[in-house]
Amino acid sequence: LVVLNNVNKHFGALHVLQDIDLTIASGEVVVVIGPSGSGKSTLCRTINRLETIDSGHIAIDEKPLPEEGKELAQLRADVGMVFQSFNLFAHKTVLENVMLGQLKVRRTPKQEAQDKAQALLDRVGVANQAHKYPAQLSGGQQQRVAIARALAMDPKVMLFDEPTSALDPEMINEVLEVMQQLARDGMTMVVVTHEMGFARSAANRVVFMSDGRIVEEAAPEQFFNNPRSDRAKDFLSKIL
Ligand code: ATP
Ligand code: MG
Repeated sequence: LVVLNNVNKHFGALHVLQDIDLTIASGEVVVVIGPSGSGKSTLCRTINRLETIDSGHIAIDEKPLPEEGKELAQLRADVGMVFQSFNLFAHKTVLENVMLGQLKVRRTPKQEAQDKAQALLDRVGVANQAHKYPAQLSGGQQQRVAIARALAMDPKVMLFDEPTSALDPEMINEVLEVMQQLARDGMTMVVVTHEMGFARSAANRVVFMSDGRIVEEAAPEQFFNNPRSDRAKDFLSKIL
């Protein structure tokens, strides 16, 4: 479904993505882990073209990523993204936040968009918050709204970049549970996270990055119990 082929990216002198090859199958859950600065966020951002690449190819559904314009907006809708900071529109209600993309990008009729938004808010467990503004919600609730907003576009793949890192501990699980359910429902997902419990239970594959490279790729049991590279061993010894 998502194919990255020999992708390279620089920020000035910094070679932030080096010869990245990664193929994500439909329905697969890939967890990306690695030290700070290893390029995890940049990798996510290239997949929905928030960052351009210097060389290589990225394709979704066998189509290369579009350069600009209407097709780029479609791509951003097809590739849902959830960030560490929830990025909701502060001056719109929760319901309006989840309706907006449907109305603007998908051209969904208003009533249909509203029904779908309400159903998605129910699915992520915040149906009773629909008419509040984001600032009136807890961080965990806001993040679940952000997930609902991305889902409203019927994305082909969902990217999560440290979705629980900004949350108080007691709110982390409610967001991880929504993500677990999404994984069980067959969503294709790329998840950057430090939540190793989530990686063990939800991931089909763990991708370990270091210094802009994919150093190791393995099933979670194998990666956590038996990492091959010294860099992965060193990383795991610090976080587990
Ligand atoms: P973290 O775990 O801290 O989120 P990360 O693995 O997500 O790290 P990236 O955010 O992808 O890492 O950054 C990789 C490297 O690229 C870092 O050294 C970072 O400072 C640098 N970098 C990221 N974005 C930019 C930018 N817009 N301009 C210049 N350098 C950048
Ligand atoms: Mg990051």
